[in-house]
Amino acid sequence: MISSKKITSSIIQHLSFGIKEKQRRPSSPGIPEHIVQFYEADVFLIKSLSTYISAGLQAGEVCIVVATQAHALCLEQALQTQGVDVAAARRDGSYRSLDATDILPQLLVNGELAPERFAELIGHEIVQAQQHQRGLRIFGELVALLWKDGKQAAAICLEALWNEWLRTYGFLLYCAYPLSACAGKGYEQEFLKVCEHHTHVIPTEGYTTLTNQKECLCTVSLLQQKAASLEIEVAARSAAQELEHNKDAFIGMASHELKTPITSLKCMLALLQRYEEAQKDTKALQYIAQMDAQLERISRLISDLLDLSRIQSGKLPYQTERFAFNTLVQDTVKTMQETTRTHRLILEEPEGLGVLEVLGDRDRLSQVVINLLTNAIKYSPQAERVIVRIIKSTEQMHMSVQDFGMGIAREHQQKIFERFYRVHDIETSTYPGLGVGLSICSEIVDWHKGHLWVDSQKGKGSTFYVTLPLIC
Ligand code: ADP
Repeated sequence: MISSKKITSSIIQHLSFGIKEKQRRPSSPGIPEHIVQFYEADVFLIKSLSTYISAGLQAGEVCIVVATQAHALCLEQALQTQGVDVAAARRDGSYRSLDATDILPQLLVNGELAPERFAELIGHEIVQAQQHQRGLRIFGELVALLWKDGKQAAAICLEALWNEWLRTYGFLLYCAYPLSACAGKGYEQEFLKVCEHHTHVIPTEGYTTLTNQKECLCTVSLLQQKAASLEIEVAARSAAQELEHNKDAFIGMASHELKTPITSLKCMLALLQRYEEAQKDTKALQYIAQMDAQLERISRLISDLLDLSRIQSGKLPYQTERFAFNTLVQDTVKTMQETTRTHRLILEEPEGLGVLEVLGDRDRLSQVVINLLTNAIKYSPQAERVIVRIIKSTEQMHMSVQDFGMGIAREHQQKIFERFYRVHDIETSTYPGLGVGLSICSEIVDWHKGHLWVDSQKGKGSTFYVTLPLIC
């Protein structure tokens, strides 16, 4: 038979390097032991848990396992493999398993741990088991589940509550936390508190497999080195984030400031145009039209930058209304055709399509259509036509904009929807743009719970697709 003292010692033996043998606290019936094991892989947890439980059963103790169903099942299989007759142990009351997932919500009242519920659900099992005077060992997973749920404070309260019961009834308690759930700088204090609530802290399997003091000290030093590197990385990232934030704030402010003089310039240009019309100066009117077109371009670029900075800060405003999307497309195609001499914009709709009503921001969606049409024209200088198609399926409206231009190579097709991404090759580098239009379109379509994607073949042309949910 393996004694309780022996198994506790074996569990904590990997902690013992650097601790003199005589300083180690032995476990004996009546002396509370509260062990915490951090682990990386479930396989390791089950292995050490089955060693812990099977040793308890062999020592004639009562074992209570408060675990998730999945862990309990794996544990029982491992116990069977080790030759433990789990069914018999269950029958004679030496093995009890309680479903942690079931118990957890019953332990909480308004999100806080209720000690009286603990007494009802788990405490009475402890009292009953201790009546046998055979020794008691427990595995408890409730704290880990609370932690994984983001309820660190409740997990720490539960550890403290376990300690109260431990002091009164003197048993052996084994807790286990997956290390991945404990990661994060914000959890440092809570993590320390968890450790403080235990009589023995066992690091993850990466540490427990080490065989001598030198290996342990090397591993600790390596971990310290990694922690220091991470600190530097975190500091660098937060500095980069701040820079990014400042950049967005600057773009937002600058574009806002630029809009005012542009508006004044446009008004003055309109006055000048009227004046020159009266003078019938056709040459001056030609220059004015060119200036107007350039001002329009600057104004679109500024709007794009402003939108982008609003997207970054999550403040792109949307106004929702019900409207006919196909009418919006028809109007936009018509307006764009008036400003385009090089291409024919062809709208194809199936007969009897009816009204395709969507719920959304008319101006923002019109911005998407304009952007796709502008790109289709811009990136197909040799072509003469752009085809816009609208069709309807059961719950969605599908629009496509097809051009017969330079097309986009496969490796760029996903990336062009990222902000500031432009295809850099000999052909496209001569075209003006900032690489933000499609990222804004993507954001707008996403906001409307739709999809935007491209199908393209280099040298043959591109088709951009938009789907939006319809109001049924
Ligand atoms: P911009 O056109 O201002 O650079 P966009 O975000 O609208 O920015 O487009 C991103 C990139 O995707 C463009 O730089 C271009 O390389 C590519 N692209 C967009 N539309 C087309 C198209 N219809 N045909 C070919 N390439 C396109």
